[in-house]
Amino acid sequence: MSKSVEDALAVLRAHGIEPYETDAEFPDMPGIGVIEEGETVYATSIDDVFRDDPRGPDDDGALETDGEPGRPGDDPRGPDENATQKSEWEWEPPADDDHRLRDWWREIKDMARANEQQHGALFSRRGLRRETYEPPEPHCAWYCPIHFFGHGWGIYIRERCIFDVARDIASFVNWNAVKAARLRPLEIMRQLLRSAFYVFFLHEQFHHKVESLGFRLLVATATDRYRPYKSKVYQPSFLTPTCLEECLANAESCRRLTERRYKKRHAPPMLRAVQDYLAWSIPRQPPGYAQGINYLSEGAYRQGLYSLQSQILDGLPTPTTPPSHWSVAPDVITSLMSIDADIYVILPAGARPIFRASSIDPGATASTAALTAALTRHYGYTQAPGGKGSHVKLVKPHAPNIHLPGNRPVVSPGMVKQVLGVFGGYPISRLPDLLGGRLPQPQTVSSSS
Ligand SMILES: [Zn+2]
Repeated sequence: MSKSVEDALAVLRAHGIEPYETDAEFPDMPGIGVIEEGETVYATSIDDVFRDDPRGPDDDGALETDGEPGRPGDDPRGPDENATQKSEWEWEPPADDDHRLRDWWREIKDMARANEQQHGALFSRRGLRRETYEPPEPHCAWYCPIHFFGHGWGIYIRERCIFDVARDIASFVNWNAVKAARLRPLEIMRQLLRSAFYVFFLHEQFHHKVESLGFRLLVATATDRYRPYKSKVYQPSFLTPTCLEECLANAESCRRLTERRYKKRHAPPMLRAVQDYLAWSIPRQPPGYAQGINYLSEGAYRQGLYSLQSQILDGLPTPTTPPSHWSVAPDVITSLMSIDADIYVILPAGARPIFRASSIDPGATASTAALTAALTRHYGYTQAPGGKGSHVKLVKPHAPNIHLPGNRPVVSPGMVKQVLGVFGGYPISRLPDLLGGRLPQPQTVSSSS
């Protein structure tokens, strides 16, 4: 278990903030989804996403576009000679048994082929593009703050939305430039999926940065600034043009696409496509998100950031702290945790992850009911009254309390890790043993936490 989330929770507790006993419950938090019945979840990281996909036997490395040496593990070989000898867009389907990936790839191929038949990029691309931007579902990606979710914190992204956005990005690709760059099909596929992932990730990471500022203000002022900001500023402005946090999260995902770790793994035409996609999609998104397009320049972004920081400090939509004062307190809104490693990807149960999973057993998930039953049946826990909101609180003399979100078909991996931590920190792959009553009794402590 990450030490830093424990540190963060200890600081919250020291200030009377108990994520598991807060009244501000999940359904009231706009923009936050839950893992549904029939879904499963795996943990991944930016490194895992940017590492080469485990699929495909003749997988070669990322195309180096900037002449910089590859990182260890990168294959130094260039694009495959064979790829250029194959006629036009007669690409092999990816070696995979997952119909989601195959179906998606077929659409991308059709797009590229149509582009070619119509002799030119602009005409056909316009025909293939949707007129309006509609998210494939209401909750494609979200950030669960530590202040409200404790061990269940982190970035959650639905794979289905990654496929959808990757297809939209593909509609902005200049396929002639891709052909000229001699990109192999596997590499095109990988870069499109990575681009979509990165768009979601960067947006959600901004929400983590906002919470990180909340932690800094909590320690520096000894008062809770984050939760009042969320209830008095963020929630009332959500889905209105004045919701600065969403404006800036969108602007940031656009601005950070030029980062080296992204750029070096994407051919210039693919980078161009994702930038064009964002320039098209952001203004078509709901109020608040759409205005992100106004914060792309350094000056506007900086102004927006300072105003948001004043809103968080003051807990007011119209803050009294002059935003300009932040010019002498720069960089207060950077990430607290190395969230690059705490990303959860949600997919249909039984499907194969499109990105490399960090954990050995990506499908190890359980429901609230199954965990509660195991803990009470096999390990002497009892369900305590007073678990507020939709939380379940489990207690046992001389053992740490365990908190679970109520009635979840799928409990988040961080929460499962919390439970396994009580038993001495078993890996998440031992979850079946926990559920089957095969783990030793939890370690006793002198006083329950
Ligand atoms: Zn957001």
